[in-house]
Amino acid sequence: MENDSFSRRLLRWFKQHGRTDLPWQQDPTPYRVWVSEIMLQQTQVATVIPYFERFTQRFPDINALAAAQQDEVLHLWTGLGYYARGRNLHRAAQQIRDQHGGKFPSALEQVMALPGIGRSTAGAILSLALGQRHTILDGNVKRVLARYHALEGWPGTPAVEKQLWQLSEQHTPRTHNAAYTQAIMDLGATLCRRSKPLCPLCPQQHSCQALAQGRQNQLPHPRPRKPLPARNTTMLMLADLEGRVLLQQRPPSGIWGGLWSFPELAGDPPSDAEINRWCREQLGHQVKISERWPVLRHTFSHFHLDIEPVWLHSKHAVARVADDQATWFSPAAPAALGLAAPVKQLLERLQQHLE
Ligand code: SF4
Repeated sequence: MENDSFSRRLLRWFKQHGRTDLPWQQDPTPYRVWVSEIMLQQTQVATVIPYFERFTQRFPDINALAAAQQDEVLHLWTGLGYYARGRNLHRAAQQIRDQHGGKFPSALEQVMALPGIGRSTAGAILSLALGQRHTILDGNVKRVLARYHALEGWPGTPAVEKQLWQLSEQHTPRTHNAAYTQAIMDLGATLCRRSKPLCPLCPQQHSCQALAQGRQNQLPHPRPRKPLPARNTTMLMLADLEGRVLLQQRPPSGIWGGLWSFPELAGDPPSDAEINRWCREQLGHQVKISERWPVLRHTFSHFHLDIEPVWLHSKHAVARVADDQATWFSPAAPAALGLAAPVKQLLERLQQHLE
């Protein structure tokens, strides 16, 4: 009975307060719901909306996305972060075109077999777009259930996650599944927020264990923290006589995979002589070092990257490009390339200097 009352209260609340005006809720095809679910991983709704609109305007369906160049997909992803999401979306669209005739699959196992789609996301897409009954467990749902049941332990631990799946399964109703899926995600996003949950407005306030114990701000337990290690790299912003800058495409996997970035020397900051030698040997350029800029810190989930940007000029009259993984990029008239956030930031700064 208790389980029924949790979902009943939630559905009642959703009727009155749920979000129904988000762009992906209009014409909720599996493709549009899929794109939104991937963008919403790690990213707030307000940030996602303009990206979603640009993306679905340019790629209105699976076949359009499958036919695109990866560069264009990553360009539309620039600034959203976690670029593996964009690369996987692109690969998955090609897989759907090749293996499912361009039609989004409707069986959970087939959806889970696509790159970048886990069990919860697959369930959410099929529930929201096709009304199938599936259980979901994204970050919002984990937080709501961990608080509601005052569950101890970090939800990333396999044992705690297993308990959360069981609880989610218990609460998921047999009918009105799409509304319930949206409702529990909305509750987590709008009331049962990460910090300062709005318990007095919550439909579960009279039976929530965390609230009864006054621990709604302590649950769920955070990930046990280790200090993040720091790595160093030097980014070489090599400009030619026309104010263009050399960019190289990064390998397809690893950090910023497939994005365009400056030539880089990993490790401790090199001396001027080392930079000169490296540019001569690796890039075939005699260079003059113009400025070293202050260190820029970019934080990934598992380490800090301390970037020392160095602005250089090529002494060659004619800019040479070593291979097709390199290009001369004009900050004043930027081509549509996928750029990592700190590279974009440095190019904007460089543009001000070059003006
Ligand atoms: S009462 Fe507070 S802590 Fe409990 S589910 Fe509602 S918002 Fe979350």
